[in-house]
Amino acid sequence: MKKHNFNAGPSILPRIAVENSAKAILDLNGSGLSLLEISHRHKDFQVIIDEAEALFKELLKIPEGYHVLFLGGGASTQFVMVPYNLLQTQAAYLETGAWAKKAIKEAKIFGEVNVVGSSADKNFNYIPKGYTIPADADYFHITTNNTIFGTEIKHDINSPIPLVADMSSDILSRPIDISKYALIYGGAQKNLGPAGVTFVILHDDILGKVDRKIPSMLDYKIQIDNGSMYNTPPCFAIYTCLETLRWIKGLGGLTTIQAMNEKKAKLLYDAIDNSTMFMGTTAIKDRSLMNICFVMKEEYKEKEDSFMEYAKSKGMVGIKGHRSVGGFRASTYNAMPVESVQALVDCMKEFELENN
Ligand SMILES: *Cc1c(COP(=O)(O)O)cnc(C)c1O
Repeated sequence: MKKHNFNAGPSILPRIAVENSAKAILDLNGSGLSLLEISHRHKDFQVIIDEAEALFKELLKIPEGYHVLFLGGGASTQFVMVPYNLLQTQAAYLETGAWAKKAIKEAKIFGEVNVVGSSADKNFNYIPKGYTIPADADYFHITTNNTIFGTEIKHDINSPIPLVADMSSDILSRPIDISKYALIYGGAQKNLGPAGVTFVILHDDILGKVDRKIPSMLDYKIQIDNGSMYNTPPCFAIYTCLETLRWIKGLGGLTTIQAMNEKKAKLLYDAIDNSTMFMGTTAIKDRSLMNICFVMKEEYKEKEDSFMEYAKSKGMVGIKGHRSVGGFRASTYNAMPVESVQALVDCMKEFELENN
């Protein structure tokens, strides 16, 4: 049976990226060696990381003055690296979910944290509005897509101070105006590649403003100066990212990807909104295009387990909601084909007909 992979992360990748990665593991470009067996200092790897960086810059239209890094440690290490390198006295954070809370926790180690807005009062089912970004803070940190709760800041906000964004789960899902951000980071394993590599896009201007000493591995300046190779980078994971980036370019870039993502999300949100049995969990205007959360209405609540079984029997994978929201979550990342979203919608409609 065909599987429809709605996993939240690690998650679906373009089939071609998986296949080409498998080939490179067996034999990299006819070299007779595996991608896993060559030095990261070898020219065959240098061209891989160079092309990945170049494609990142091309697809996101990254202007002059920015660097792209491929590091280890996951987005969670960026929760530390960001304040380590940028927080001198005070930082502003928007609290939009579990990942934002973790970022805030780490920042507090380094200085004062001003939480300018929070949606904790409603279990993070909306994006706070009308908050003020303090002009004297060192930076303002946002999480553009809240993977667990299914909300998303879908436009590039204006910030009077350097804007830092965790884009782990919506990077490359739409064109963005990079010039509005000072630093963007994320784990690759949601929308870009396998677990193990973390991308960072950052502008030169923001560095060198803190007094503290920074350990080498956590120092952006040292990572930039060494082209992401201060130590051995996650070579294999970077290769698969490159394959995903090539796939995006082949499709026509981020405008095409955005249209595909909007189409998929609309298909599923329309089905949820028009259903007598299911309902969405988030404020409509803040709904994520990447992680679509829904539950059964109160009067059908006891049918959630049986829908889960039914969906599984139809090939749906990974639609269980995070424990902090319950119900269901369908992650519709870039690589998810519209056919799979249609299959989920059909499955919901069939179940509703049979159980009403
Ligand atoms: C998954 C996720 C993280 C954590 O990423 P790791 O690479 O596991 O540290 C952080 N932020 C967001 C928005 C995520 O979705």
